[in-house]
Amino acid sequence: MAVITVNPRGTADVVPEDSWKWRKAEEVLRRVSDAAGIKEIRTPVFEHTELFMRGVGDTTDVVQKEMYTFNDKGGRSVTLRPEGTAGAVRAFIQNGLFNAPLPVKMFYMISCFRYEKPQAGRLREFHQYGVEFFGAAGAAADAEVISVASSIFSAFGLSGSVSLKINSIGCRECRAKYNQALREYFSLHREELCPTCLDRLERNPMRILDCKSPVCSALAEGAPRLPDYLCEDCAAHFEDVKKRLDGLGIEYTVDPGIVRGLDYYNRTVFEFVTDRLGAQGTVLGGGRYDPLVKELGGPDIPALGFAMGLERLILLLTETGFFDGFSPAGCSIYIASAGERAELAAAKAVAALRKKGISCECDVCGRSLKAQMKYADRIGAEFTAVLGDNELETGRAAVKNMKDGSVTEISLEELSEGRFM
Ligand code: ATP
Ligand code: MG
Repeated sequence: MAVITVNPRGTADVVPEDSWKWRKAEEVLRRVSDAAGIKEIRTPVFEHTELFMRGVGDTTDVVQKEMYTFNDKGGRSVTLRPEGTAGAVRAFIQNGLFNAPLPVKMFYMISCFRYEKPQAGRLREFHQYGVEFFGAAGAAADAEVISVASSIFSAFGLSGSVSLKINSIGCRECRAKYNQALREYFSLHREELCPTCLDRLERNPMRILDCKSPVCSALAEGAPRLPDYLCEDCAAHFEDVKKRLDGLGIEYTVDPGIVRGLDYYNRTVFEFVTDRLGAQGTVLGGGRYDPLVKELGGPDIPALGFAMGLERLILLLTETGFFDGFSPAGCSIYIASAGERAELAAAKAVAALRKKGISCECDVCGRSLKAQMKYADRIGAEFTAVLGDNELETGRAAVKNMKDGSVTEISLEELSEGRFM
């Protein structure tokens, strides 16, 4: 096929028959956000490359291998956002949002771009819903953010399909000690590590725990565990988070293997995972990133958040039958017509009905009456009416309920006002 008739690898169309599912999911996410006092932020699709190098971290897979980076015509290096946090933090700083009452709570619903090997639930252009909280350092905020994430799954009826895993990756000091212990451990297995992890061994050994290669992940099983290296403050914070989750009745397991793929996390990290999507089981991931706002040139303000993959959410919702109970918004009435005058009358009636927010259609293809009725049937119109010379003369038309076949006669005025439903 010619290049222009095929989409680039790793991108996907959402065709009109399916887009209502995305809208439905987005509606639920917006409703949950509103209820939690979380307002939307919209940031650019591309940013200065430097922002992601600093904000995501230049030892991460995302920055090292996955970014869509290019020079624009002015010779500046820009990058299509691979995630939402860096842009949200940049906007938080640039717009002086730290002067607003803290905590500042925001969400985003965005497309992201990563050059990855495409498979089910893993694309090159994908979508995320994410939440960021700024200005709350205590464990109550960790618990609230996790609680918001958890409430999303219950709003979708998915509580039984996902489980929450939490961990603490401590602060810089805890991790310095921990990275040393990891270096010592993995150095003993140097020959077995994959080439990427060999590089990670020097630069950022914690990333090895994230490696998906079977050999590295088997080695990771026996590696030292982060919770054993937490300083007193970080350990107390983690205990406090767990106590609060217990208090809120949110179930979780502590999984020392969760280190998250991005560099900026500290203390609490968490994931909601499912076993229903094969290898792409992480639906939502998040955590604290207290150093990031300062790292990106802002004041020293703690922050935390999470991001959820929308393709994975939709896959999971499809799998669990969430969409079965809904159907896309359809056509309330199809107004068929025969003859030029009637065609105009139908178009006018349709325009009047649409003003009232009633979904309706009429012929725009010059079709025969029979073909119009076939079309009305195929689009699932709830009601139909036929306008012809006779109807225009008497000023009345028969409206047919397509479900039960019943027919009611009303005036053309009533028809235009939607008084048939
Ligand atoms: P993974 O381990 O699956 O690569 P990640 O740790 O790279 O995920 P994050 O950067 O934490 O993912 O992004 C948050 C969420 O975004 C993930 O949990 C996932 O649901 C989704 N996500 C990440 N990368 C992709 C992708 N390439 N295609 C579709 N969804 C993705
Ligand atoms: Mg990834």
